[in-house]
Amino acid sequence: MNTITVTSPLLPDLNEFHALLSEIWNSKWITNNGSFHKRLEEALAEYLKVPYVSLFTNGTLPLITALQALRITGEVITTPYSFVATTHALWWNGIKPVFVDIDPSTGNIDPHCIEAAITPKTTAIMPVHVYGKPCDTDAIQAIADKYGLRVIYDAAHAFGVEVNGKSILEAGDMSTLSFHATKVYNTIEGGAMVMHDAKTKQRIDYLKNFGFAGETEVVAPGINSKVDEMRSAYGLLNLRQVDAAIAARRRVAVRYRKALRDVPGITFFDDMPGVRHNYSYFPIFVDAEKYGMTRDELYFKMRDAGVLGRRYFYPLISEFTPYRGLPSSAPSNLPNAHRMASTVICLPMHHVLSKDDIKCVISCILSK
Ligand SMILES: *Cc1c(COP(=O)(O)O)cnc(C)c1O
Repeated sequence: MNTITVTSPLLPDLNEFHALLSEIWNSKWITNNGSFHKRLEEALAEYLKVPYVSLFTNGTLPLITALQALRITGEVITTPYSFVATTHALWWNGIKPVFVDIDPSTGNIDPHCIEAAITPKTTAIMPVHVYGKPCDTDAIQAIADKYGLRVIYDAAHAFGVEVNGKSILEAGDMSTLSFHATKVYNTIEGGAMVMHDAKTKQRIDYLKNFGFAGETEVVAPGINSKVDEMRSAYGLLNLRQVDAAIAARRRVAVRYRKALRDVPGITFFDDMPGVRHNYSYFPIFVDAEKYGMTRDELYFKMRDAGVLGRRYFYPLISEFTPYRGLPSSAPSNLPNAHRMASTVICLPMHHVLSKDDIKCVISCILSK
């Protein structure tokens, strides 16, 4: 059976990649801040319209390292509606996650819920731009300023997202990206941190290299999150084609929206005014009563037809064993998050989805 996967990696041209690999082989410099690493950091900063980028070996370590760099302790307010790495990063720093509910119109942390969750132990807020939809960064920053809190954005889904021509990655104290193969832009495995100033960039660069600030000096208990030259070269090539990939994803979104607009019981997000979206995901929400089938019934029916959607984000992070005992994990504290998690299916969404594939996904949803 022909299967339609939820995502497909953006792959560089093999001949071009081979040429860059030859350069690396000739130089014999394969890791530790090599020339492709430097070129990729610069090219990403330019593409993303941000002042400083530090590459990481995945999208989880910059979260962990940002918390280390800002010396975050105690409690951090975050969202249960995300990939589990967001909360794991807190746990790995000995921080207690405090979950608050989401705004059902975006899937992002609801700023109105944040203040009530602040205690004397609260030191930071860790929101996520879920599906690449920008958080209400102004409202979040206003609360952070009022209470003296740090803000670290998990921007794993938000590569290239802009609001009124300005990068969403400029919000907060730091933002982190994932360049995993399943994301809009990938370096196979990879990630990055975006920061505002050269001093922070320097400190982060030390931290991702064991804390080394020179041959014989260690300034902090760092970690190893270095990126090799192969993945940096691969990333440089992918950066050249990411705009075309986002444009192709946009065409998929337009088709889905046109076909599903008037289907009773199926809803989805529209573009937000002034936002440059990256179409990283295409979530639909199933109202079982109106649609005549539950989310899971549709999900498994799609699977039987070879359409491999994903229930991102189900279960909620607050439902996983390590976190379900936390007071803030009580379902009564997170009604909107529970509703979204129990109704969502992310449809196949990538740059090489064919018209026939899109038709197949749509007919699966239309035929009951
Ligand atoms: C993918 C993802 C991560 C983790 O990124 P990795 O590169 O897989 O470590 C973190 N947060 C969110 C929201 C993600 O989607």
